[in-house]
Order: sequence, then C-alpha cells, then structure tokens
Amino acid sequence: MITIALSKGRIFADTLPLLNAAGITPLDDPEKSRKLILDTNRAEVKLVIVRASDVPTYVQYGAADLGVAGKDVLLESDCMGLYQPLDLQIGTCKMMVAVREGFDYVAVVKSGARLNVATKYVHIAREHFAKKGMHVNLIKLYGSMELAPLTGLADAIVDVVSTGNTLKANKLMAVEEIMPISSRLIVNRAALKLKRDQIQPMIEAFERAIQ
Ligand code: AMP
Repeated sequence: MITIALSKGRIFADTLPLLNAAGITPLDDPEKSRKLILDTNRAEVKLVIVRASDVPTYVQYGAADLGVAGKDVLLESDCMGLYQPLDLQIGTCKMMVAVREGFDYVAVVKSGARLNVATKYVHIAREHFAKKGMHVNLIKLYGSMELAPLTGLADAIVDVVSTGNTLKANKLMAVEEIMPISSRLIVNRAALKLKRDQIQPMIEAFERAIQ
C-alpha cells in the first residue's frame, strides 16, 4: 500500500495532473466528498486529505509514504529527515515583507527602529530579519495577516504573495522579497527503502510530468 498526503484546494488541484501522469486517478473529489481517505484507480494507492501544515507530520511518522507541501510549510515545520526529491513547481508564490501604503520601510530600517512584524511564518521571518541584522518583535498570527498593519497591531507583515491582489485590496505594498516558494514532493525515508519498487517509479513519473 502507498499512501500520499495532500491538502485540499490549490495543492490538490495542482497535484492532480502529476498524479494522472503517474497513472493515479482519485475516485472522489475532496471538495465534494467528506471522506478523508480517498481511493484511487489503483487499489494499492490511497490519498489522505490533511491540513497543509500537517502534511510533513504524516510523512515524517510514516502514516503517509509521500506528501506534497509548500516550502513555506516545510520551513515552518519541525519535521526532520524528510527526503525532498522534487520541486514540483506548483503553488508558486513569494514570501514577502509588506507594509501599509506610504509607510517608509527603507527609512525605518535605516533608522534602526524596532519593528513589530505580524506573521504566520515566524521561523522564516526570524531568520530573515536576523540575517539583515534587524531587531523585530514577531507577533504570531494564524490568518488574515493583512489586517495587522491596518489595525495598528504591527508595522509590517511577512506573508505569501501570489498576484498581489490581496495586498492591493487592503492598501498594503510589498517592500522586500524573502524567498520564492513552491510545493515540494516529500517522502518518508524508511518507506523509500522498503517500498522503492513502487515509490521510485512514481517519483520518476512526477519528474517527467514537471518537465
Ligand atoms: P494574492 O492575492 O494572489 O497575492 O494571494 C494572497 C493570499 O493568498 C495570501 O494571503 C495567501 O494566504 C494566499 N496564497 C496565495 N498563493 C499561495 C500559495 N502558493 N500558497 C499558500 N497560500 C497562498
């Protein structure tokens, strides 16, 4: 049995063509079904539908053999020893620093003032500002980070930006790119050893599909 952990929404939709290329077709649509374990056209392959931030945990503990997770999720997770054979080049976006329109970020950084930064991505943000030698107060949020500068909770946010429409709609602007983000295939190392005959061809099919 091979179990693949995926999250609903963007990752599931973008992974479908790659699964198809590996000869795997889910028998249910997770957007319509309430099932959390989906059968596929291949009796020995199942998909488990979990929260995006839980994908690395399922794979680390071997409850799933493979998974698809964003680089942002992987950098924020404490999971160790996951094999990451492929950048799937899906779910691409950028991790950015953003502030209210009109906020002079460059001048504030130059002045050495301590910034309040709200984010879901505290590991990534801490490392970024430490590298720049900036002192910041990090405020952990779980969503709707755009609200933080508008309500005075924070001076800046660190968030993923795709089209930039959400920032624009909230009168925010991106001022610094931290890193490009995309989704990665992750594999449990023990599973790869024990089930290499089944897993290796899948990795190769995904790789061909990306190219
Ligand atoms: P956009 O308005 O297209 O810049 O999208 C911004 C919002 O969509 C962000 O606040 C994110 O929560 C979410 N988002 C966009 N792209 C991604 C992605 N690749 N992975 C996770 N969340 C994303």
